[in-house]
Amino acid sequence: MKINKYITETNRWKGRYGASVKWITIHYTAGIGDTAYGNCQYFSTAYRAASAHFFVDETSIWQSVELEDSAWHCGDAPSRNGCNNLNSIGIEMCSDKDSKGNYYISEETVANTVELVIYLLGRYPDAQLCRHYDVTGKKCPMPWVYNEQLWIDFKERVQEGLPMTAAEKKWVEGIEKKAKDLEKKAEDLSKKNAELEGQLAALGKSSTENLEAVQASIKGIKNEVMPRWGFVDGNMPSWMKPTIKKLVAKGYLKGDKNGNLQLSYQFARALVVLDRAGSFDK
Ligand SMILES: [Zn+2]
Repeated sequence: MKINKYITETNRWKGRYGASVKWITIHYTAGIGDTAYGNCQYFSTAYRAASAHFFVDETSIWQSVELEDSAWHCGDAPSRNGCNNLNSIGIEMCSDKDSKGNYYISEETVANTVELVIYLLGRYPDAQLCRHYDVTGKKCPMPWVYNEQLWIDFKERVQEGLPMTAAEKKWVEGIEKKAKDLEKKAEDLSKKNAELEGQLAALGKSSTENLEAVQASIKGIKNEVMPRWGFVDGNMPSWMKPTIKKLVAKGYLKGDKNGNLQLSYQFARALVVLDRAGSFDK
């Protein structure tokens, strides 16, 4: 925003008597719908025993005292925070009253003041912000004394608008690098995870295959040695039937008390071989 000038030659000290700008002090005019230009005009026409460097309203910023000179806005006596007329810049915000008769600073005026303060902090990076209230205890700007949050919000808006300091830049770079490292780590972990999953899948397949093979051999062994045929009937293979029939007839094979022979494959085969050799024909 443009800074208009309407410099007073009356209400100010020339220079700062060796002091440097350490503070930027915020006030309100306690006017009712007054304007920045109107205030500049007022302070330029006669001795007023008061002044400020800047006046801000909803649409404009007007400068009344040069920054090298001292305005009369917060006093010369030893103050609460060390701020005085010689080491500070004074900004007056134009004000208005609501329907209940309470002073307020409009959002547009606050926004313009934020912009002005950001500009001034660019010129005086070491200057601190304060209210007139913080210097002398005067209720100025009144709405920001009765509602401290408005003052906190204002300072935050200024802070957000300031360019980063070298230290802040370094901090942000550090955070960015950390985030990048973490991202890389996450990527590596995800790769490793995929690898492990692959290994697990292979392991799972081979163990299933192994299990199936073992189960098949158990089945084979069972088939060989477990009794499968109890009686000479339709279930018995024809190659063993004549031999078994003969042995039962001769009384060599009797089975259990129910006549169940419980013949396994191996045993039945052995009997058939012996029978073919004539072992049971004597
Ligand atoms: Zn004030």
